[in-house]
Amino acid sequence: MAPVKMLLIEDDPGDADLLWELLSEEKHFAFVVEWADRLKKGLTYLAQGGIDVVLLDLSLPDSHGMTTFTTVNIHAPNVPIVVLTGFDDETLALEAVRLGAQDYLVKGQVDGKMIARVARYAIERKRAEEALRESEARFRSAFDHAAIGMALVATDGRWLKVNSAFCETVGFTESELLRMTFQDLTHPDDLPTNLGYFYQLLSGDLQYYHLEKRYVHKLGHDVWVRDSASVVWNVQQQPLYIVAQIQDITRRKHVEEELAHRLEELARSNTELEQFAYVASHDLQEPLRMVASYTQLLERRYKGRLDDDASEFIGYAVDGVMRMQQLINDLLSYARVGKRGKQFEPTNCETVLADTLVDLQAAVKESNARITHDPLPTVMADAPQLRQVFQNLIGNAIKFRSNAPLHIHVSAVRQGAEWVFSVRDNGIGIDAEYAERIFIIFQRLHGREQYMGTGIGLAICKKIVERHGGRIWVEGQSGQGSTFYFTIPATGGQRPRMIW
Ligand code: ADP
Repeated sequence: MAPVKMLLIEDDPGDADLLWELLSEEKHFAFVVEWADRLKKGLTYLAQGGIDVVLLDLSLPDSHGMTTFTTVNIHAPNVPIVVLTGFDDETLALEAVRLGAQDYLVKGQVDGKMIARVARYAIERKRAEEALRESEARFRSAFDHAAIGMALVATDGRWLKVNSAFCETVGFTESELLRMTFQDLTHPDDLPTNLGYFYQLLSGDLQYYHLEKRYVHKLGHDVWVRDSASVVWNVQQQPLYIVAQIQDITRRKHVEEELAHRLEELARSNTELEQFAYVASHDLQEPLRMVASYTQLLERRYKGRLDDDASEFIGYAVDGVMRMQQLINDLLSYARVGKRGKQFEPTNCETVLADTLVDLQAAVKESNARITHDPLPTVMADAPQLRQVFQNLIGNAIKFRSNAPLHIHVSAVRQGAEWVFSVRDNGIGIDAEYAERIFIIFQRLHGREQYMGTGIGLAICKKIVERHGGRIWVEGQSGQGSTFYFTIPATGGQRPRMIW
């Protein structure tokens, strides 16, 4: 162990000699002692550094009493000081201990062992104090400069300590807050809940709590915060104070409120649409049916008695009515996707595809289509709706075939958290410029004379896929066939959660 370097500031050469003698008897610790008989000399030694401990007589020719201690302490704040005192200045020595001296020794009552022990303790204690001071300084700095609001709260709710982020959140200065309680600052509507948690915390029923609550800002408006609190206990298990982290979440709350508001509006307008579709299907179909029946009756009853033009006009009228009925039915199925949808369940897509092909049997046979597929997964889905997606996509692939022998291939590839399904055909293809438009309700690229349809199939597919938390799109080129892709989340399967 390296020897302890001690500085003895003592004007009496006799006392200095004695001390040196006593220390040289000490076997366990090695000391190197420097001696200064004046304060000034002592300070010079200290300025050179390397001193581990100072033994200080308070009464020196060039300095007296407490001034001696404070002068040394100011010049070497990191070096522990043990005061050396005669009987009569013991009160003074005690005062020095209160001001930071590590200990005091009474001249004439010491032996080498005691001096050595006191010096070692003084050094150790000073080190521990320094470490504590450093860690307190680190804590204080972390507390003061934290980006999040931090506070210490007394058991009666008084703010004991607050950092600048918190002051900024609530608009009060630190000194204003230290004269207030958290009860003063909490929104009256949130206070009962908050107090409930607070008392449970103090009684030990809760170890901590997180609460979203409102403070009333100095300017009068509400501030939303996430308040996380826990208790610091003393050794007798009594609550000392509460440590709280207070995060300003006002912006998030506003976004949430806005979003909830929008969702409500959306739900309302959706309900209105459902309502409209319902009215359209029932109330409009009735007069339409009448028009159709009577024009058909006209046709039957007056066949041969009307001229060719008249028969042709009646034919157009019947055709128009039927188309209108079809459009209304399609609109109704579109509106029903969200409304009548079932809960998502594990759905084997191989089975869904097989069922779809049964539904499309006639069209498949008639078109001579070769339909192949890769292994398909099980996903969380509304099976009848998924079947409708396959049916529309494969049905379209058959409808929009080219002269080449038709080949349709269905596949699914896992990409991250989702399955990417594809339905590929070698039909007439789609120009990239129409790739988005075709998913809009009633949008078609061909006349009815060319291909039958109302332009609703892909809009329904889009609505179903989005209800499942997925996306749908098409790739391809005119004359080169098309591939329709859609995704379904691989896990969960409920509606995607909003993340902001
Ligand atoms: P519909 O089939 O009743 O016209 P859809 O919404 O199913 O309505 O399709 C919209 C349009 O997208 C179609 O009119 C067609 O022009 C185009 N389309 C859809 N599927 C294909 C396909 N597999 N190949 C080429 N074009 C397609």
